[in-house]
Amino acid sequence: MDKYRIDSHKLIYHIPRVNDWIAGKLVYPIYTEIATSGTCNHRCTYCALDYMEYQHRFLDTKILKERLSEMARLGVKSVMYAGEGEPLLHKDIGEIVLHTKNAGIDVAFTTNGVVFVPKLMRQTLHAITWIKVSINGATRETYAKIHRTGADDFDRVIKNIGEAVKFKKENNLECAIGMQMILLPENWHEAALLAETAKNLGVNYLVVKPYSQHSFSHTTAYKDFRYSEHIGLGETLRQFNTKDFQVIFREHTMKKWDDGKRNYERCLALPFWSYIDAGGNVWGCSAYLGDERFLYGSIYQNTFQEIWEGEQRKKSMQWVGADLDTSQCRVNCRMDEINRYLWELKHPSGHVNFI
Ligand code: SF4
Repeated sequence: MDKYRIDSHKLIYHIPRVNDWIAGKLVYPIYTEIATSGTCNHRCTYCALDYMEYQHRFLDTKILKERLSEMARLGVKSVMYAGEGEPLLHKDIGEIVLHTKNAGIDVAFTTNGVVFVPKLMRQTLHAITWIKVSINGATRETYAKIHRTGADDFDRVIKNIGEAVKFKKENNLECAIGMQMILLPENWHEAALLAETAKNLGVNYLVVKPYSQHSFSHTTAYKDFRYSEHIGLGETLRQFNTKDFQVIFREHTMKKWDDGKRNYERCLALPFWSYIDAGGNVWGCSAYLGDERFLYGSIYQNTFQEIWEGEQRKKSMQWVGADLDTSQCRVNCRMDEINRYLWELKHPSGHVNFI
């Protein structure tokens, strides 16, 4: 098991909230994903959200800050800035990060790292719990081909990660710095080289994870890619592990992708998370952006509390509970492990008292 439970889930650490949910009480999300920017400086070949069209829109800083303070009061504990665009392209991202942290919410990033320049890094690194840089090649050529950008971006990202690691060590900061590769036909042969690069850079971990087809994506280039013949790679990559560096080879998730099955019939996870897109819309699930049945409201029109307790969300939750067929959902969706856990809690097998 990786120490951050990346190939599993962390809802087991939130028993009071789960208990409230079991008792039928209204609960607020623990975790929210926020897209500060709709646009992106890359066009990755595997991008699940290509259908969102990389719209040139950015969240309004003032309203977002108001909502973040409110969300902290309501019980939101973490925000990951990521989403349908590159989050660091927002002009006020530094200010937003500091505000989020000061409000009492843990902050994380998934980013391509190109604009995580020293100035921004120095301003924010102390306030960030973890940052995961998406880097899908170990050479300039492969990186440029998959990210569909100039090869110079590879150099920039490596430099930015190196600077962040140095700054973190010099200032004794807690922030976990990670890198992430989606294993694809074009890059699997570079995974070991990337592990070596990551270790030499001094990051905390490298995640190697499988692709997953999004139902709405324009791209379907990898929909038939299977991982069974690459599972052995995990053993090679784990040889890079030390006490300070770990390759998190998401074998469990790869097997689930190949298998394609779920052990739950309904989605139970939606009360515990939410997604805010770059247009201010609040969604119940990041795998259904654009599907109005999952739309709860807009932070430009209502407070987060009004949205979360509102009629629109109530209707959506009723529909999800009664009619959503999870076999049609994205395999390995963000809440898959949490759904497996919650389903088992609600549908225990026998002999549970024999702990
Ligand atoms: S994709 Fe996952 S989180 Fe979203 S509704 Fe389906 S099962 Fe739930």
